[in-house]
Amino acid sequence: MNLDPVSIILMSTLMTVAMCVVMFAAQRSFPRNVEGLREWGIGMAGLVLASGLFGLRGIVIPEVLLPLANSMFLWGVGLMMVGTQRFYGVRPSWHLFHGAWLLGLLVMLCWLYLWPDFAMRVAMFSFLMLALNLTQFIVIVRHGERHATTWFFGLLMLVQALAMLHRGVNALLGGAGSDMMHGGPHYNLYLALLAFMTLLLPVGFITVATRRLQTLLEQRSNRDPLTAVLNRRGFADFHARHSARQPLAVMSIDLDFFKAINDRHGHAMGDRVLVDVAGVIRGVLRDSDAVARFGGEEFVVLLPESQQARAELLAQRIQAALRQPRPDASLPHYTLSIGIACQAAEDESLDSMLQRSDRALYRAKQLGRNRVEVATPALLSPQAPQHICLN
Ligand code: GH3
Ligand code: MG
Ligand code: MG
Repeated sequence: MNLDPVSIILMSTLMTVAMCVVMFAAQRSFPRNVEGLREWGIGMAGLVLASGLFGLRGIVIPEVLLPLANSMFLWGVGLMMVGTQRFYGVRPSWHLFHGAWLLGLLVMLCWLYLWPDFAMRVAMFSFLMLALNLTQFIVIVRHGERHATTWFFGLLMLVQALAMLHRGVNALLGGAGSDMMHGGPHYNLYLALLAFMTLLLPVGFITVATRRLQTLLEQRSNRDPLTAVLNRRGFADFHARHSARQPLAVMSIDLDFFKAINDRHGHAMGDRVLVDVAGVIRGVLRDSDAVARFGGEEFVVLLPESQQARAELLAQRIQAALRQPRPDASLPHYTLSIGIACQAAEDESLDSMLQRSDRALYRAKQLGRNRVEVATPALLSPQAPQHICLN
């Protein structure tokens, strides 16, 4: 296959322009908390500029701009590294970023004019690229979620890093030195790989960013924005996925005299109380349980594989936690009423269980609040309540 350097660089530049557009378009439409897209976009614009300089060198632009092109390339890749770090919530390595492009400029100037040595320039450039790629690879491995998109992005970054290592070492050992001096298959192959990677790496980043977007949107549609617990839809989804893990138990939990808390301390404090309630409830649950806020100041808990004893124990733990001094002393004291219902039959629907736990909750309110009531199937006939009082 005959690959000539100018066409490779031209092709790579066009791909980078396209990916740059994709990156900026994504940055405009993705939610703000998917970070790093902007840095990737600007970094790739830097690559386009650098590729332009490489491609034109010796044609219209003098050789003197070669160090600048190399430095520009490192600047772009460095900014992409910053983007990756921002994306994963890691503090950007600005020292490495500035060090790489500055050092890139210096070593190019030194080994171009002071001690002209192509192999040395290639080695230094490759090692600086290696540092930028390897830093990203480590961030991806340490902070990426366990998902195929992470493996894809990480693998691409690793391939790029290994290619740089190989090229740097090769140049130092002088293995392909003469080839690289005068172009030749090694040089062209390397250029082709670099061109291909300039397309693939942003694709890898867009893949993880899109996955993040999907997770965020799912969370937004399934979760209550105030307390971050599930909303009705999320709760129904959870039940659909776990309904086979019988026996199920549910709890209906309602704040006592919440209107008075709002009136006395303001709506904002009321909201903080709701967030606190969510935290207290989550604090006693297992990961395999679910808690949801059904609007207002009403929470619902689903306990898979749980008998009445466990539900009661958890309700007691919730109320015990509220009797302890709260970590946030500025919160007003508040209490909760809790109604519990345990699955009466294998085919009892969620709605039916929630109706029964609501009735038990209503009963807890009637009987003075700040207490736990258990709906037995007998509670379906309201004369026979079974209740436990905790105070
Ligand atoms: P009870 O003990 O009988 O449950 O009395 P309560 O005052 O808690 O019950 P009620 O249903 O009368 O009042 C609920 C209040 O919850 C009314 C409303 O102002 C308040 N509320 C509902 N949603 C929110 C919210 O998102 N934030 C805040 N701060 N208040 C809310
Ligand atoms: Mg209430
Ligand atoms: Mg209520």
